[in-house]
Amino acid sequence: MRVVLFDIDGTLLLSGGAGRLAMEAALRQEFGTVGPDSYRYDGKTDRLIVRETMRLEGFDDRTIDQRMPAVMALYLEGLRAALANGARRAYTLPGVQAIVDAVDAADDLVLGLLTGNVVEGAELKLSAAGLAPRRFRVGAFGSDHEDRPMLPAFARDRASALLGEQVPGERLVIIGDTPADVQCGRGVGARAIAVATGGFTVEELNAHAPAAAFRDLTETERVLDAIRHA
Ligand SMILES: [Mg+2]
Repeated sequence: MRVVLFDIDGTLLLSGGAGRLAMEAALRQEFGTVGPDSYRYDGKTDRLIVRETMRLEGFDDRTIDQRMPAVMALYLEGLRAALANGARRAYTLPGVQAIVDAVDAADDLVLGLLTGNVVEGAELKLSAAGLAPRRFRVGAFGSDHEDRPMLPAFARDRASALLGEQVPGERLVIIGDTPADVQCGRGVGARAIAVATGGFTVEELNAHAPAAAFRDLTETERVLDAIRHA
């Protein structure tokens, strides 16, 4: 049995910038500033984005922590609105529907998520892109911990609870589009498969030694084979 943990942004889907739009609006409202244009959101958890951008603007952690709940509430409100009113459109990346169906249908695989999105944001984006959140039976989210390397242990423990047996970290296969996805599971022995549908090339991702790297997820059988042999 393997537990297949998909990242969301840049891996399963793109949301047309809805996430950044909503986050910047929330930051502007609470802090009066949005952080540098050059700051990259990919590979980060939602709350880490708030912390790192606002540290760069000179705010201390105490202030950031005090305003964090308000920022996240505004962010979710803005994300829901942007996706609902058509200001931004979420869509699945090539091959995603097929690989999600295949993993979901396989007796030896459990379909799951490992994402920096807070759980409500993950559900909004997946639903907007036509992926039913409840199909993903195991999840670890940015709302579980601010640091991505802490998330695989949440997924492992939830998979163990779901399956009624101890799932070792080696049984986790993390699929993502950034070096942060590739590296985050090392502490628990998880495997990683990289996909270059986000902001990094196959070459850049391979530099972090994933078990496999793909240009996209269109070759379902090859991706399934990589999952089973990672
Ligand atoms: Mg991503």
